[in-house]
Amino acid sequence: MERRDFLKVGAAAAGLFSVAEAASAATAQLAAVASAAGSDPLVIVPGDTRFVGLTQGFNRRWNAPNCQVIYVPLTEAGAVTALGMALASFPYNTQIRGGGHCYENFVFNAGTKAIIDLSLLNQIGVDPSTGVFYAQAGATNWDLYRTLYWQYGVTLPAGSCYSVGLGGHICGGGYGLLSRLYGLTVDWLTGVNVVTVQGKTPALTHATSSANQDLFWAHTGGGGGNFGLVTRYEFATLPTAPQYAAIYTYAWNWEDINKSNLMPGILSWFQQLLGYGNNVFSILKLNHVAQGQVVALIQLSYSGVQGAESASFLGTLQSSLSETGLASYVVPVASEVIGHPGSLSAAATLSFQDLRWWEAVQTLNGSGSNQKGKYKSAYMRANFTTAQAAVLTTWLNTWPNGDTTVDMTQSLLQVDSYGGRINTVGSTETAVWQRNSIFKLQYQTYWQDPYEGTTGTEPQVQWIRGFYAAMYAGSGGIPDPNKDATVDGCYVNYPDVDLEAYGTGTGVRLYYGGNLPQLSKIKKIWDPNGHFTHAQSVPPATS
Ligand SMILES: Cc1cc2nc3c(=O)[nH]c(=O)nc-3n(C[C@H](O)[C@H](O)[C@H](O)COP(=O)(O)OP(=O)(O)OC[C@H]3O[C@@H](n4cnc5c(N)ncnc54)[C@H](O)[C@@H]3O)c2cc1C
Repeated sequence: MERRDFLKVGAAAAGLFSVAEAASAATAQLAAVASAAGSDPLVIVPGDTRFVGLTQGFNRRWNAPNCQVIYVPLTEAGAVTALGMALASFPYNTQIRGGGHCYENFVFNAGTKAIIDLSLLNQIGVDPSTGVFYAQAGATNWDLYRTLYWQYGVTLPAGSCYSVGLGGHICGGGYGLLSRLYGLTVDWLTGVNVVTVQGKTPALTHATSSANQDLFWAHTGGGGGNFGLVTRYEFATLPTAPQYAAIYTYAWNWEDINKSNLMPGILSWFQQLLGYGNNVFSILKLNHVAQGQVVALIQLSYSGVQGAESASFLGTLQSSLSETGLASYVVPVASEVIGHPGSLSAAATLSFQDLRWWEAVQTLNGSGSNQKGKYKSAYMRANFTTAQAAVLTTWLNTWPNGDTTVDMTQSLLQVDSYGGRINTVGSTETAVWQRNSIFKLQYQTYWQDPYEGTTGTEPQVQWIRGFYAAMYAGSGGIPDPNKDATVDGCYVNYPDVDLEAYGTGTGVRLYYGGNLPQLSKIKKIWDPNGHFTHAQSVPPATS
């Protein structure tokens, strides 16, 4: 189906097109959907009991106090209608909500007047006419994993936290516990349906590696809220889900780390784990001293006979810990494992669990509770230097302004393993530039307070800013690959508006690296009026 004629029926229902135009433009199936468009999208306005609940992000710092209307499409045709209705009133103040998990306020902010909430656009399956897997953009990771596994025995190497929405997650890259084994989620993407607005009216565009190739490529890592409204992701093939996944957990008390200077050894042991195969994914939670411990979580996914491979790997891990002198300091996990994935209670965190893979998915899926949070990220191409080990040890023992009454029990630097199959893909094959790193770092800090919103100067925010600037002092306070070849910028799915303090456009430069010029050209073509804009959206090319 051609891009232009794919779908105009929804917009017809919104009064933007004539019926004749719509009839000539759409398939019979889509026309049938549109005929019921009186209730598609749902239109939710202030006074409706649902309204207040839908103007708040997962992160309690973010809300949309000036929002006037929320559209909830029930079908992809309804999404076209919704965008037409929203842009008719608020052409530059409409935002799209997939799962609502953005780290920054791109969706929920004071300027947002209309929200298109895709929560009910959540079908997952195989299109009988093409045999292609699809997932609509309002589905969550949990919907995705369950349907793909139960119905087809396959999966995707997407994120671990169950409530994250596919809308923003997939087009930003989509990275998780199977990524060293199977690559990034976008490495499997073969098509997208996107509602774009090149003239006055929205149209649903199907983009693949052969049709509208530029728009398709932009969705292989270009990030949400930039080019249009994604209604559907497509995958021609998907990898088989593993049968088993063993989880190994090691903890060290900060008391011992500080007394015996264990941090350099822990970091170099963690790097050794990269050598054990692509089915090993490791997470090092370098928690603030207030939390008491540093914790390593390692997942070995495998198929075949349960027990043999996992027991043998347990032996390998124990030997490596003994050789590095760390084994004698290992202690049981003492309190809840924090950060994403987190919410693992200490009591349930055994040092070795040989699970069926689905059990592991359920064990490591914790999004945590709705609270306030601030994040930063960095890709690393080389292991931590001795100097960085010293800096992070200092900062993880530091309270904001020396005030030990500040709750720092949920503050950490999380080091995730990268590489493996991810790094077999070229930097320009998809829009994800970072294809030769070994770690992806996620700085996280969370706190509770009874009131929503943010001042932006909370002590935890000040701490994470100071920590990050100190870690990258050698490259100007940010992981800038132009100044330090051992770092490679930041992850677009972990956006951080503080980067703009280093010059407007620093965020997109660090997220997209050498792919930024191409993304800017595509932005200019597909969103020429700039309807899809947020604090760090891709800038349109100027020539
Ligand atoms: C608890 C938690 C765990 C996480 N774990 C991981 C992880 O393991 N791996 C990982 O890679 N990332 C992870 N992330 C980051 C996550 O990938 C991003 O926050 C992602 O953008 C969330 O998508 P969303 O649809 O839920 O968010 P939203 O806030 O709804 O959207 C984020 C951005 O994408 C845009 N957008 C959303 N839907 C669409 C659409 N259909 N079309 C166009 N634009 C759209 C929005 O307008 C916004 O700009 C995690 C985040 C959280 C909060």
